[in-house]
Amino acid sequence: MPTQPPEERVKNFGEVSLGYSPETARQEAGRCLQCRNRPCVKGCPVGIDIPGFIRSIAAGDFAGAAAVIRQDNNLPAVCGRVCPQEVQCESLCVLGRRGQPVAIGSLERFAADWERESSGGLTPRPVGMNGKHRGKVAVVGSGPAGLTAAAELGRLGYQVTVFEALHTPGGVLAYGIPEFRLPKAILAHEFEQLQRLGVEIRTNVLVGSTLTIDDLFAQGYQAVCLGTGAGLPHLLGIPGEELNGVYTANEFLTRVNLMKAYLYPEVDTPLYLGRRVVVVGGGNTAMDAARTAVRLGRKVTVIYRRSREDLPARREEVRHAEEEGVEFLFFTSPTAIRGDGQGWVEAIQCVNVELGGPAKDGRRTVEPVDGSEHWLPAESVIVAIGQGPNPIIAKTTPGLATGLRGVVQVAPKTLMTTREGVFAAGDVITGGATVIKAMGGGKRAAQAIDHYLRPKNNWLDGQPAREG
Ligand code: FAD
Ligand code: SF4
Ligand code: SF4
Repeated sequence: MPTQPPEERVKNFGEVSLGYSPETARQEAGRCLQCRNRPCVKGCPVGIDIPGFIRSIAAGDFAGAAAVIRQDNNLPAVCGRVCPQEVQCESLCVLGRRGQPVAIGSLERFAADWERESSGGLTPRPVGMNGKHRGKVAVVGSGPAGLTAAAELGRLGYQVTVFEALHTPGGVLAYGIPEFRLPKAILAHEFEQLQRLGVEIRTNVLVGSTLTIDDLFAQGYQAVCLGTGAGLPHLLGIPGEELNGVYTANEFLTRVNLMKAYLYPEVDTPLYLGRRVVVVGGGNTAMDAARTAVRLGRKVTVIYRRSREDLPARREEVRHAEEEGVEFLFFTSPTAIRGDGQGWVEAIQCVNVELGGPAKDGRRTVEPVDGSEHWLPAESVIVAIGQGPNPIIAKTTPGLATGLRGVVQVAPKTLMTTREGVFAAGDVITGGATVIKAMGGGKRAAQAIDHYLRPKNNWLDGQPAREG
């Protein structure tokens, strides 16, 4: 996949990976062996017919390829860009055993981009409902889980309203993942597709405050799907974390990307970022924060308490970060942040660590090395060590049980919570995971809601039951 050269891209927020040409895509698709047992499909959480769409690309039928993908995935241009393919579909490609697996994600991106660029990419409106609907469902949260649930419910004939707390829909896709990995124009196109399914999105509604779940039922919604994600950042809990110049990655990325602080003063969102930035963490969020800070002209160091191989971020993001000049310090853990006496960060204290015995989660514990404390000068610290669900809905919804770290509890098969008629999917039930896993959950929740509502709405014969 061709990319913008590192020395160029660090000066702009344009997309890094440039995509395949039709010739390269057909060539890459031609490598696929069309395995009869389809191992790659098992690695895709939404079960895309991977050999099927690749066959269409190899034959030059790009529209056909996009149509095959859209049967199982509403956001192909997004997933082709951000899925951790190396641990999902591509990890099971037989060609990966002896060499390079087929670049399934890049081909998916190609088909989705081709569809959008060549034909406007708008799939036809669903037909046959004649203004009638099969029930009214509220979806809370407009990230990949909520949007997928909404699209699936819309397709099944339900009248769906999505309630979103922020002013822009998309969840992490909009406020977290930066423009240089996922251009907002691509996201906007995917929303247009959704709106064609009749899904209404209401922004600036914080459910649990503006409206409660009980209010939604009182307004006639027959079921609710929670797709509220895991947007509450975990903190380090070390001295000095309250100093000016310490950000959570969520706040930093939201300010820069969604609220366009990188255009200050033309855009009225200030961002106080020092010359030297230390990012704590090793996931996608840490890489996005580090690479964003690089583009703002800062010197960036990522500290991570395990090895390079243990970094949870996508391999491609780590490679791109290194190419862009991000420095990595492995086996390093922060212990304190020091101020300059005026309330601003001056340095971060770290300790070297080594791996100990196995912990409960199967990973090895991390033990500090005695006497290894040292200070790294930094005017800003960005904390990217994970996040959990915001408790606001659980606190305001009687009967809604949560488990470890605040995740909402659901029945594994039906995805129904402990509150009748309330379902949940995505990061709010798993903790921070991936876009495609959240989408897979959203699809399952929609199907479970359909199962739940059909008998209630007397819809057993395949015909719509209610006037729209
Ligand atoms: P979210 O995307 O978090 O969406 C939840 C939505 O619900 C938000 O819009 C939020 O505002 C809204 N909401 C919350 N509470 C309420 C409320 N009370 N009322 C109304 N609305 C509410 N995964 C990948 O696969 N690849 C990547 O490259 C990748 N990079 C990432 C980078 C960053 C910076 C982050 C933070 C995560 C990344 N992830 C990545 C993880 C992935 O984005 C998430 O797993 C996924 O977005 C979860 O989807 P979701 O729909 O469950 O929640
Ligand atoms: Fe692979 Fe993700 Fe596409 Fe599924 S959606 S085929 S996991 S890139
Ligand atoms: Fe093609 Fe690889 Fe899937 Fe086989 S496993 S069908 S080679 S993508």
